[in-house]
Order: sequence, then C-alpha cells, then structure tokens
Amino acid sequence: MKRIGVLTSGGDSPGMNAAIRAVVRKAIFHELEVYGISYGYQGLINGDIKKMELGSVGDIIHRGGTMLYTARCEEFKTLEGQQKGIEQLKKFGIEGLVVIGGDGSYRGAQKLTEHGFPTIGVPGTIDNDIPGTDFTIGFDTALNTVIDAIDKIRDTATSHERTYVIEVMGRHAGDLALWSGLADGAETIVVPEADYDMEEIIGRLKRGQERGKKHSIIIVAEGAGTGFDFGDRIKEAMNLETRVTVLGHIQRGGSPTGFDRVLASRLGAKAVDLLLEGKAGVTVGIEKNELVYHDINEALAKKHTIDLEMYKLSQQLSI
Ligand code: ADP
Repeated sequence: MKRIGVLTSGGDSPGMNAAIRAVVRKAIFHELEVYGISYGYQGLINGDIKKMELGSVGDIIHRGGTMLYTARCEEFKTLEGQQKGIEQLKKFGIEGLVVIGGDGSYRGAQKLTEHGFPTIGVPGTIDNDIPGTDFTIGFDTALNTVIDAIDKIRDTATSHERTYVIEVMGRHAGDLALWSGLADGAETIVVPEADYDMEEIIGRLKRGQERGKKHSIIIVAEGAGTGFDFGDRIKEAMNLETRVTVLGHIQRGGSPTGFDRVLASRLGAKAVDLLLEGKAGVTVGIEKNELVYHDINEALAKKHTIDLEMYKLSQQLSI
C-alpha cells in the first residue's frame, strides 16, 4: 500500500482533528502518501480530495470540529453512490481509507470494504455509542462541557431554590447523561437503557425537599424523552417551580480534553497500522486501555449498553 485516504463523516466531535493529524503523520512516518477527503462521503463522490503533508495538520490538535469538514450524504447509501466513491478513490490511486465517524459512517465504511476497498473505522462521536470501544473520541470533552454547564446552572438553582431539568445529547445512548449526572451529583438521571418510575422520581425529589435541599437537578438523556416533558410532569406532580435547559450543540464543540487528544492520536495511528497489516472492515477501539480492533459488522450487531453498576451507584448516592 502506497497511498491512503482519510475522511470525517456524520456528526462532528472534538478530537476528530487530532485523529486526522495522527492518520496523516503516522502514514507519512511509514512513507505512505495521504489524501484528505473533505465533506465526508459527499466529498468522496464529488472528488473533493487533496494531498496532505506533515504541515497540513499543524496547529489543529487542540481545535474542535474537523478541518476536513463533515457532511451527511444520502447518495452514498445507494450502490451507485458507493461505486462513484470507489471510482474517485481509484482515480486518485488511493488504496485504503480511514473513516472517522459514528455508526452511520461505519455502515458506509463497511460497504466500501464489501466492494473490495479496504476501509478502517475510527470511532468519533460524543455519544459513546459505538460497540467495540470503551470510549469514543469526543465523549470526554462533551462530558466536561456538560459538567461545566451543570455547575453553572447549579449556582442559579441554589440561589433560587428551584428544580432544574437538563436535557443532554447522546442520541439513543445514555452515557453522557449517566456520566455527567454522576459527576455532578444529580438527584435523578433518566437514560434510555433503564426503565424509570415517575413516582419514584417524585418521591426522591420530595425526600430531598423534606430534608431542606435547596435545589434539585434532573438529567434527561435526549434518547429517553424531552427535558420539557419531564419538566411539565414534575411541575404538575409537585407544584414546584421547574426550569428546563436543553444544552444542545454547545456539547459538540470546544477544544478536546487531554484524554480525547491522546485517544484520537492512538486510534488514528492504529488505523494506519491496521491498513498496512492488510486489515479491512474493522473498527479500532480502546478496551481496558489496550488498543483493540473488531469486525465492523460484528461490532454494529451488538446492542449498546450503559454500565448498569454505575447507574445503580448514581441512585445510591442520591437517596
Ligand atoms: P454518524 O456517522 O455520526 O452516525 P450518520 O448516521 O448521519 O452519522 O451517517 C453519516 C453518513 O454515513 C451518511 O450520511 C451516509 O453518507 C453514510 N451512511 C450511513 N448509513 C449508511 C449505509 N447503510 N450505507 C452506506 N452509507 C451509509
């Protein structure tokens, strides 16, 4: 293999730049040529492809977003779209591809591999919902952004003695809600992976009220329902002044944490090593701090789960 490509696809996440940098530098270290494909699979179809040098990825390790931009591309879900992509790769003499993105992007990567074009997936999403890795690139940064926001809301919640409902991202996964809730001592965390009992939630809030708690914080994962719906239900049941905050896209931005920069650097470099070893259709990941890789199809067939012990602990610590 003499020439590889790299693209970012789907939702962006902080640390994608550090991953691109690692792919480019590790490839050049191995004397490969590297091409950057802008705007994900859409850019691949359009031939938006440029050679990258060592300096192309200078001064990006600390920046959020992705210097290669990202896009969603319906056409790439069709055989015709995939064939157009492969034609472009052939035109540029690219022999292997690293795709940094979430599970949708992985399905595209898997299709390329099935058509005989070796592709490796690097998990980049704040949702932490890709099986085959303990952490995805961007999760830790988003977690810290959420913690920072909740700390600020806590100040005003205490001052006004109010109940706050905070809706956090995560798509169908509750990791961001669970981790931020545990880190911030939330009274209640609502995640899609665990059933909740509204009466139990109300009982918990009432007990807090009775022992003189100044405020309550309830974290709702977007996959479990809307913050506004929970806010209305609590207000109705308790006759309590309730405020709802939907954190939204601030969770996707910002300079990546040290953890995400290191994770992105390790995973990006590992993807290049795997291409050189002749691997294809695999996702790289980190498990118990060891670099691992798994078949993309097998990984995506697994159901995402949260750490139920952690969920139980969050309940025990907020009795
Ligand atoms: P994410 O990668 O963040 O999960 P999406 O689910 O939007 O984001 O997927 C990103 C892109 O991956 C899609 O716009 C599409 O181009 C490609 N993709 C998603 N699913 C498939 C599929 N089944 N086959 C081929 N390409 C796909």
